[in-house]
Amino acid sequence: MYCKKCGAEMAEDFKFCPKCGAGINMQDVSVPNHLVLAILTTLFCCIPFGIVSLVYASRVDLLLSCNRVDDAKIASAKARNWAFVGIVSMLILMALYSIIVMFSGVCALNNC
Ligand SMILES: [Zn+2]
Repeated sequence: MYCKKCGAEMAEDFKFCPKCGAGINMQDVSVPNHLVLAILTTLFCCIPFGIVSLVYASRVDLLLSCNRVDDAKIASAKARNWAFVGIVSMLILMALYSIIVMFSGVCALNNC
Protein backbone atom coordinates (compact mmCIF):
# COMPACT_ATOMS: atom_id res chain seq x y z
CA MET A 1 0.00 0.00 0.00
CA TYR A 2 0.95 3.64 -0.32
CA CYS A 3 1.16 6.45 2.20
CA LYS A 4 -1.85 8.75 1.92
CA LYS A 5 0.23 11.76 2.84
CA CYS A 6 3.40 11.47 0.78
CA GLY A 7 2.61 8.53 -1.53
CA ALA A 8 5.62 6.45 -0.51
CA GLU A 9 5.27 2.70 -0.85
CA MET A 10 5.22 0.79 2.43
CA ALA A 11 4.59 -2.63 3.92
CA GLU A 12 0.98 -3.59 4.72
CA ASP A 13 1.56 -4.00 8.43
CA PHE A 14 3.29 -0.66 8.91
CA LYS A 15 1.46 1.64 11.27
CA PHE A 16 3.59 4.64 10.36
CA CYS A 17 4.95 5.75 7.02
CA PRO A 18 8.74 5.15 7.04
CA LYS A 19 9.29 8.22 4.87
CA CYS A 20 7.15 10.98 6.36
CA GLY A 21 6.07 9.35 9.64
CA ALA A 22 2.34 9.84 9.07
CA GLY A 23 0.12 7.48 11.07
CA ILE A 24 -1.93 5.14 8.92
CA ASN A 25 -4.74 4.14 11.23
CA MET A 26 -5.39 7.62 12.54
CA GLN A 27 -6.98 8.82 9.33
CA ASP A 28 -8.77 5.60 8.48
CA VAL A 29 -10.27 4.54 11.78
CA SER A 30 -12.76 6.65 13.61
CA VAL A 31 -13.71 5.43 17.06
CA PRO A 32 -16.61 7.24 18.70
CA ASN A 33 -15.59 8.50 22.13
CA HIS A 34 -19.18 8.83 23.46
CA LEU A 35 -18.03 11.90 25.36
CA VAL A 36 -21.34 13.75 24.90
CA LEU A 37 -23.26 10.70 26.10
CA ALA A 38 -20.97 10.43 29.12
CA ILE A 39 -21.43 14.12 30.00
CA LEU A 40 -25.21 13.87 29.64
CA THR A 41 -25.24 10.77 31.85
CA THR A 42 -23.20 12.59 34.49
CA LEU A 43 -25.40 15.70 34.39
CA PHE A 44 -28.86 14.20 34.13
CA CYS A 45 -28.64 10.59 35.27
CA CYS A 46 -26.24 9.00 37.58
CA ILE A 47 -23.03 10.76 38.59
CA PRO A 48 -20.96 7.67 39.60
CA PHE A 49 -21.69 5.80 36.36
CA GLY A 50 -21.35 9.02 34.38
CA ILE A 51 -17.87 9.64 35.75
CA VAL A 52 -16.73 6.11 34.92
CA SER A 53 -18.09 6.70 31.42
CA LEU A 54 -16.30 10.06 31.22
CA VAL A 55 -12.98 8.47 32.19
CA TYR A 56 -13.24 5.89 29.40
CA ALA A 57 -14.54 8.48 26.93
CA SER A 58 -11.56 10.74 27.58
CA ARG A 59 -9.21 7.80 27.08
CA VAL A 60 -10.51 7.08 23.57
CA ASP A 61 -8.95 10.12 21.92
CA LEU A 62 -5.77 9.71 23.92
CA LEU A 63 -5.39 6.09 22.79
CA LEU A 64 -6.22 7.04 19.20
CA SER A 65 -3.52 9.70 19.25
CA CYS A 66 -1.08 6.97 20.32
CA ASN A 67 -2.39 4.84 17.43
CA ARG A 68 -3.68 2.20 19.86
CA VAL A 69 -6.88 1.65 17.93
CA ASP A 70 -7.84 -1.65 19.57
CA ASP A 71 -7.52 -0.18 23.06
CA ALA A 72 -9.45 2.89 21.91
CA LYS A 73 -12.29 0.65 20.68
CA ILE A 74 -12.40 -1.13 24.05
CA ALA A 75 -12.47 2.20 25.91
CA SER A 76 -15.17 3.45 23.54
CA ALA A 77 -17.34 0.39 24.20
CA LYS A 78 -16.86 0.76 27.96
CA ALA A 79 -17.75 4.46 27.83
CA ARG A 80 -20.97 3.60 26.00
CA ASN A 81 -21.80 0.71 28.34
CA TRP A 82 -21.32 2.74 31.53
CA ALA A 83 -23.34 5.63 30.15
CA PHE A 84 -26.03 3.11 29.28
CA VAL A 85 -25.94 1.62 32.79
CA GLY A 86 -26.33 5.14 34.18
CA ILE A 87 -29.31 5.90 31.94
CA VAL A 88 -31.01 2.57 32.66
CA SER A 89 -30.54 2.90 36.43
CA MET A 90 -31.96 6.42 36.22
CA LEU A 91 -35.01 5.15 34.33
CA ILE A 92 -35.53 2.41 36.93
CA LEU A 93 -35.28 4.96 39.75
CA MET A 94 -37.74 7.25 37.96
CA ALA A 95 -40.15 4.35 37.45
CA LEU A 96 -39.87 3.38 41.13
CA TYR A 97 -40.35 6.99 42.17
CA SER A 98 -43.47 7.44 40.07
CA ILE A 99 -44.89 4.15 41.41
CA ILE A 100 -44.29 5.33 44.98
CA VAL A 101 -45.83 8.74 44.24
CA MET A 102 -48.78 7.07 42.55
CA PHE A 103 -49.41 4.70 45.47
CA SER A 104 -49.00 7.38 48.10
CA GLY A 105 -51.46 9.54 46.11
CA VAL A 106 -53.98 6.69 46.04
CA CYS A 107 -53.40 6.18 49.74
CA ALA A 108 -54.01 9.85 50.50
CA LEU A 109 -57.31 9.73 48.64
CA ASN A 110 -58.44 6.64 50.55
CA ASN A 111 -57.24 7.93 53.93
CA CYS A 112 -55.13 4.89 54.69
ZN1 LIG B 1 4.37 9.16 4.03
